[in-house]
Amino acid sequence: MKEDVLKKSIFPALVMLLTIVTLISCSNDSSDSDSDTDDSLPEGTATPVSAFGEFNPDAVTVSFDGDDITIDTNGLPNHTTPYWEETSPLYIAPIVAVAQTPGRIGGDRSLTLTVPSIPEIAATSTATGLGPIGISVTGVPIFNDTEGPNRPIEEQIVETFDYAGAHNGPSGYHYHIESYDVPENTVLSQNDEKLVGIMADGFLIYGRKCNSTGNYPTDLDVSGAHSTSTQHSEGEEFYHYHIINEFYLGSIIALFAVDLQGTPNSIM
Ligand SMILES: [Zn+2]
Ligand SMILES: [Zn+2]
Repeated sequence: MKEDVLKKSIFPALVMLLTIVTLISCSNDSSDSDSDTDDSLPEGTATPVSAFGEFNPDAVTVSFDGDDITIDTNGLPNHTTPYWEETSPLYIAPIVAVAQTPGRIGGDRSLTLTVPSIPEIAATSTATGLGPIGISVTGVPIFNDTEGPNRPIEEQIVETFDYAGAHNGPSGYHYHIESYDVPENTVLSQNDEKLVGIMADGFLIYGRKCNSTGNYPTDLDVSGAHSTSTQHSEGEEFYHYHIINEFYLGSIIALFAVDLQGTPNSIM
């Protein structure tokens, strides 16, 4: 009888002790992950190497050196555009452009971007400026939604974009917006989940749809990014941008009109 009483009083005490230990270890776990990042996104996942197989090898050389990835490009499109000289085999008459910016494709437009192989989300985001903010899979630089000298893209500028969403500027040919849906467009993302390129902070950018669901992502942060798997990551989740599925000036889709969430590296 006495033994039974003892068992009855020790057992609940043991259960309570175990519960307290479990609660303490659980709260330790959650405070650890809170101190790593102030949002729910994991930091520091390696960029999947197979993504670099999407870059046009005729224009782009990718080299891996320790913790760094270096992307060298000649900066020239591998596709047709009215911005080639008329003598070029890649010259075509304008399909969508009703006006053209001065100058034609030519000269030394080579660019280099070195990024960490494990890019991280920075404590603060960074606004992009004029000039290259990323390198696309064709090798042509990605520009934001502004035009020199510091004016937002407006109707007159939109009129100068070719079907690839690009035009020529003092620093050469560059993309501002998503390609138009025309038969000639076979190389760039157009309302799909294709890889678009790599941004200056080392994070990849994909089209408006995500391979993880096959549809428009609904969990994007303010920069149009999230952490999921893609067609390049074999189920592994990593942080990447998407072209944000919102019309700009009612009809066009800017490639990247938001802040970079990582630390930008120079593209020059
Ligand atoms: Zn421009
Ligand atoms: Zn995605």
